[in-house]
Amino acid sequence: MKYISTRGKEVCQGFSDILLEGLVADGGLIIPESLPKIGIQKLEEWRELSYEDLAFEILSIFSNEISSNDLRSLITKTYHSEAFNFGKEIVTLKPLFNNLSLLGLSQGPTLAFKDIAMQFLGNAFEYVLINKNLKLNIIGATSGDTGSAAEYALRNKKNISVFMLSPYGRMSLFQRSQMYSLKDQNIHNIAVYGNFDELQDIVKFLSSNLKFKQTYRLGLINSINWIRIAAQIVYYFYGWLRATNSNDTNKKVSFTVPSGNFGNILAGHIARCMGLPIHRLVLATNENNVLEEFFKTGIYRPRKPALTYITSSPSMDISHASNLERFIFQLVEQDPEQVKKLWLDLAENGFFDLSHFQPLFEKEYGFVSGSSTHQDRIETIKWIYKTLEIFIDPHTADGVKVATKFSEPGIPMLVLETASPVKFSETVKEALGKTPPIPSYLKNIEQLPQKFTIMNCNAKEIREYFEVHAIT
Ligand SMILES: *Cc1c(COP(=O)(O)O)cnc(C)c1O
Repeated sequence: MKYISTRGKEVCQGFSDILLEGLVADGGLIIPESLPKIGIQKLEEWRELSYEDLAFEILSIFSNEISSNDLRSLITKTYHSEAFNFGKEIVTLKPLFNNLSLLGLSQGPTLAFKDIAMQFLGNAFEYVLINKNLKLNIIGATSGDTGSAAEYALRNKKNISVFMLSPYGRMSLFQRSQMYSLKDQNIHNIAVYGNFDELQDIVKFLSSNLKFKQTYRLGLINSINWIRIAAQIVYYFYGWLRATNSNDTNKKVSFTVPSGNFGNILAGHIARCMGLPIHRLVLATNENNVLEEFFKTGIYRPRKPALTYITSSPSMDISHASNLERFIFQLVEQDPEQVKKLWLDLAENGFFDLSHFQPLFEKEYGFVSGSSTHQDRIETIKWIYKTLEIFIDPHTADGVKVATKFSEPGIPMLVLETASPVKFSETVKEALGKTPPIPSYLKNIEQLPQKFTIMNCNAKEIREYFEVHAIT
């Protein structure tokens, strides 16, 4: 596998470099130069594989310079039944009605799909750092899901410390309890008097200081990491294999993906480019519909943070979609100069216009898009519960709502279940008047003792705290 940058600079090729290097020095993103084709025959060979074995086959394609044995043991360490779903399947297909099913991705430790890639990343980070005898300090800001997925992936790992800024008093009780109840020495929860954007600015400010960055080996954990995308490709293949059987004549499957940063659905797009018979990739957004607009018009116009709505599907409340650059790079036939020009346009004018490509989005790549409102999500949660007595979370409800518009007879439509309803029980309660049952092991989570430090929204103070506690 040869890797290149969307902005043209040479990139390192090994597994550990790809893993540790989120962003290329030219500001671009890492992407394979070309993708291998997986034919129908290979897919049939993979049909009986467990999730773990399929993950090995697919991640092998993307992992240069790591031995099969080491990759195998990382995967075994990650995708085992204690971490996911208590001994049942890691990822499950849950039929709803007609051709509509959920692809259950929220059975990991923090009950959201991000666990699937992040748990692998956590083990991979530790492996690489120990091998290279390096220490790493991860610094990040979270409004909820990313932070907890990262902390649960990196807790108790050797050679790594995590400093996670969260907006004090602005996360749900469940999210707070999930993060702050971690007692691991290497996890530092910093609750800051500020909002998410202010916290992100502090992270950017600290990591832009090159000397500081090098002294403490500062790392970021974000959705542009290629290894994260690679680990997400696996469940599209797995979902396709579960939704079809070997004597199906019509083997196409569609996927609907509740989207924010374009990371999850990008993995589906890559799977499709590798030959997985995907009919449609339905991109679902909430009121923050920057991506819906892009796929409908070809115009990409990110929102200013102040104009980004706070919604009942908060993990999709994004102002811009970092991973979109990888798709654009492909659209402009891998010409880094055009990518640079587009992002310059963006910085100058606040948008760029690729409307001449728009007809290709559906015809060539299968992309269509739609969005939901708060009321849509409430109605959808009610509808699914009334019909099937199944609880779904507001992000998944967004997907189900948009999926019904694009589903076609005879073609399985898999909606990615990105979070468990337990995580967003306030909205479920608003819809149904009752909350989803909490798994017994989480019953007391809100009563557990918490470990976190409250700080002012002040980069200097946060930096001092970091300097005292960083692993060196
Ligand atoms: C992160 C997240 C999303 C959005 O995924 P992207 O990869 O950013 O598009 C959707 N739903 C949930 C529950 C999430 O945590």
